[in-house]
Amino acid sequence: MIDPLAEGVGKGDRRSLARAITLAESTRADDRKRAEALIEALLPLTGRAARIGISGTPGVGKSTFIEAFGGFLTGRGHKVAVLAVDPSSRRSGGSILGDKTRMESLARDRHAFIRPSPAGGTLGGVARRTREAMLLCEAAGFDVVLVETVGVGQSETAVADLVDLFLLLLGPAAGDDLQGIKRGIMELADLIVVNKADGDLKPAASRAAAEVKSALHLLRPKWPQWQPPVLLASAAEKTGIDAVWSAIERFRGALGDALQAHRTAQARAWLWREVGDTLIDALRADANVQHDLAAVERAVAEGKLSPGAGARRLIGAFLGSGAAVEEKGRARHA
Ligand code: GDP
Repeated sequence: MIDPLAEGVGKGDRRSLARAITLAESTRADDRKRAEALIEALLPLTGRAARIGISGTPGVGKSTFIEAFGGFLTGRGHKVAVLAVDPSSRRSGGSILGDKTRMESLARDRHAFIRPSPAGGTLGGVARRTREAMLLCEAAGFDVVLVETVGVGQSETAVADLVDLFLLLLGPAAGDDLQGIKRGIMELADLIVVNKADGDLKPAASRAAAEVKSALHLLRPKWPQWQPPVLLASAAEKTGIDAVWSAIERFRGALGDALQAHRTAQARAWLWREVGDTLIDALRADANVQHDLAAVERAVAEGKLSPGAGARRLIGAFLGSGAAVEEKGRARHA
């Protein structure tokens, strides 16, 4: 039986899409089951979007840039979904996209869909829900998905695992504080855009772009077939936006089949992440484990039990008995 919600999403109905994403964000077991069935039914409609991650420190101009870039894309006939990964956000007044005054014109655009970051939870949980939201948006016909993240924590690694291309937004002072930009974040970038290249800030932005470019040459290349370009743009004045899209198209062309291989590897990594998360959820909810948990935690905290032995005891409780694990381990090594 086809879920009517799946049908709505497949037809591009925005309210169905919003409801489906809410379902995927829910932690209730019955909601998760329905969300999983929904995503499975819609999988054939996914995978056709350009998946773009956008990161940058607060104040660098991410929302202004996404507003300008999103508007540019819808103006060219694209359908643009904007999602966010921000584990610190709350449903009310979140730090990313939660604020209604952000991206006002894009929010009114019929060809754009903006979804705030799911509330709270672990980074892994938020990233997983964002991945599912991305698939649902693709099924609803959005052909560009922008995933925004604050450039301050671990979230860019999680976003890089979701997207095809990782765009790092920098400000005109980036040249001066290159030391402050985490090397790991620079290494993740497929495209760097120095924003605010306008008015008095223009010379500083050009200098920053040159310095970032030379710093990039010292880094290990992420792709043999692609050297990340450093572009100048002004999100406020909407200049340099078309060049960003051209660079993204060039990237997709240069990577070709490698992009599909990249997505396959991402899907495999997600499979194992899901296996881990699901097992841990089941283990935590298990009555035997709950019975032993406090005692094991205390023994480990007091140094009476090693964390490894404690983990084996909990897993043993989960599987029925400690001996069962030992048996399985021995059988495997025999
Ligand atoms: P976010 O925190 O990264 O989302 O940054 P915002 O988009 O909220 O922008 C932070 C500040 O920078 C705001 O005051 C914007 O008006 C300003 N800003 C954003 N883009 C530009 C730009 O291209 N040029 C200039 N001069 N200011 C900008």
